[in-house]
Amino acid sequence: MAPELDETAARARIAWLRAELERHNHAYYVLDAPTVPDAAYDGLFVELQQLEAAHPALVTTDSPTRRVGGALAAGFGQVRHALPMLSLQNAFADEDVQGFDRRVREALDTSGIDVTGLRYCAELKFDGLAISLRYEAGVFVQGATRGDGAVGEDVTANLRTVRAIPLRLRGPVPDRLEVRGEVLMFRRDFERMNDAQRARGDKPFVNPRNAAAGSLRQLDPALTAQRPLRFFAYGLGEVSAQAAVPDSHAALLDWFAALGLPVGPHRRTVADVEGLLDFYREVGARRPTLPYDIDGVVYKVDQRAWHETIGYVARAPRFALAHKFPAEEALTELLDIDIQVGRTGVLTPVARLRPVFVGGVTVTNATLHNEDELVRKDLFIGDTVVVRRAGDVIPEVVRAVAEQRPTDARRFTMPSHCPVCGSTAVREEGEVAWRCVGGLYCKAQRKQALLHFAQRRAMDIDGLGEKIVEQLVERDLVQTPADLYRLEEGTLAGLDRMGGKSAANLVVAIAASREVALERFLFALGIRHVGEEVARILAAEFGGVQETLDADWDALIEAKAVVQKANARARPKGEPLQPVPLEGVGPEIMRSIQAFAAEPHNREVIAGLQAAGVAPVAPPRRRNGQDASEGVGTRHVSVAGAAGALDGRIIVVTGTLPGMARDEAETLIRQHGGSATGSVSKRTSFVLSGENPGSKIAKAYELGIPVLDLEQFLSMIGRDGQENS
Ligand code: NAD
Repeated sequence: MAPELDETAARARIAWLRAELERHNHAYYVLDAPTVPDAAYDGLFVELQQLEAAHPALVTTDSPTRRVGGALAAGFGQVRHALPMLSLQNAFADEDVQGFDRRVREALDTSGIDVTGLRYCAELKFDGLAISLRYEAGVFVQGATRGDGAVGEDVTANLRTVRAIPLRLRGPVPDRLEVRGEVLMFRRDFERMNDAQRARGDKPFVNPRNAAAGSLRQLDPALTAQRPLRFFAYGLGEVSAQAAVPDSHAALLDWFAALGLPVGPHRRTVADVEGLLDFYREVGARRPTLPYDIDGVVYKVDQRAWHETIGYVARAPRFALAHKFPAEEALTELLDIDIQVGRTGVLTPVARLRPVFVGGVTVTNATLHNEDELVRKDLFIGDTVVVRRAGDVIPEVVRAVAEQRPTDARRFTMPSHCPVCGSTAVREEGEVAWRCVGGLYCKAQRKQALLHFAQRRAMDIDGLGEKIVEQLVERDLVQTPADLYRLEEGTLAGLDRMGGKSAANLVVAIAASREVALERFLFALGIRHVGEEVARILAAEFGGVQETLDADWDALIEAKAVVQKANARARPKGEPLQPVPLEGVGPEIMRSIQAFAAEPHNREVIAGLQAAGVAPVAPPRRRNGQDASEGVGTRHVSVAGAAGALDGRIIVVTGTLPGMARDEAETLIRQHGGSATGSVSKRTSFVLSGENPGSKIAKAYELGIPVLDLEQFLSMIGRDGQENS
């Protein structure tokens, strides 16, 4: 709500707002490069509207609130629209929609029209740019942008290159027909195009809307032709024979579709405000999954004959309304950048933000990922930044508004020492992350390592949550995971949030974790890159912790490279692939295990755990009569591509696999030594999932069972890329 101002203050504020809005209009409509999010623009626009309403004497006809769009770009011919191309009135709250409906009914009532049959057609509000297409005798003859509503830019040659726009309409049509609609870019096309822009060293576009506008308004149509533009028709301009046109808006859209024009797939005809709001909420929920951006929904009175009766306001029709969704982007201040230390010592910069409401939640911080990301975004502490939160995606700082950078803004540099333990921080060659070398000495790493160790999918120590770990580390009660097994009930009972009963239960849970499956134990150690699936492979392969650490990793890495090379060469048809050593464990993972094993401190931790009675249980041996003393390429080889790669595995198949029937997948599982079962349980090794998997997936996540797709599964059994070799 605009504050109440006296005439002089209002005059000054209005002048400032108009200048500011004109500046943004120019950046948005002429340069296709806005500098602030739409929500920031809309805020200024609403403030100006309110001030003008409070001070009618200060209203001028050239105010941005009275005009559509912005100036025309130089270089294009001009097209005077036969009928003006207007904007839309905006609604943000449900009450605005009720007000719209009331005004429509009043206008009709005043003209003596019986409103009982009133219907609305609700459709999507595409976030692109409005264009007009003129067809003569069904042939596309002229295309124009909206421009300032009265005169637009002639972009006929460019529009001819947009494949979604038919150059000739199907079926009988009036001699002159002007179709209006939106040119836009699908999100995926936009990402691809921006990747290409960056690869060429060109500036990427801010969003699909501006990419679409910028692409359409190229002076060279050959450039437009290279841009992936799409089109949806949603309205009618001039037409030579009204009688030929359907009399409802919904039927008009169906007619457009029949003529070969693309129309939006989601639309509904409803009778009242409740129906409109239902549509709004349903579309809002689907918004993140649509392939293109929308910024709201549009409601139009369905009876076209009533449109003129209901009439127009300054820059928009009164028979239509744009109901906008909450903004996904907002401006705020970057107050500071903190460093978070993760389990493996990675230092992650995190933006501390002035709280801002965006995408339906209040955002106060956002990860900045790593140093490269910071440099790429060129963020300074003190900057005004654009924060984005779309759907359930985690919030991100998109960019800084460089033109608003205060003079005292500070550049941030990654610290050379860990902010938690003071150990040196290093950034190894080829890595994006800085790491604290402190290991378990570093309290931040120790906490994360303990939480990782205790989690359900690892040692499964119920009750050892964040709050308890925090205190155990801060009070130096636990230096390494082995110390957990020496904790006494009395010590635990002395911690905050810990009753006597919980302390007793925790001691029991810790003790019970001594008996643990080898793969869970290997996973619990937190070796970099060793996830559950790799831990399972290692357990099956080596059968023990020492055996895993003591393996000749150099030889394994080399053996793997040799076999992979041999398999990659052209082979006579029918010649089987050679078994690859440690299928599913790549060289980077191997080197990480090797580095872990080479660190005496890690060996001490493991010895400590064993001394505390932790006794990992190995899975059944994969092959009889072989032991760990056999060399590389024999014992340490999994039999990908041959029977045995899935020995002992219990696998559940769910969903539709691309190009493979479920029976076929189950046969493959059995051929490779596994068994296929119908339901997910603790014993399931992994779930092979296709599309539309259903409840089995939820169960798998709940139990912490890995989920693989067909490609990963085929690679496990050595079937990937086989047909090409
Ligand atoms: P608008 O985008 O809010 O609404 C009118 C437009 O909606 C029409 O011209 C048409 O192009 C489009 N539309 C999409 N789907 C439609 C459908 N199904 N039926 C009818 N129309 C449909 O209004 P506007 O006048 O084009 O522009 C104002 C918008 O542009 C605001 O959202 C504003 O935030 C943004 N803007 C931003 C800046 C900036 O600097 N960030 C500057 C200027 C304007």
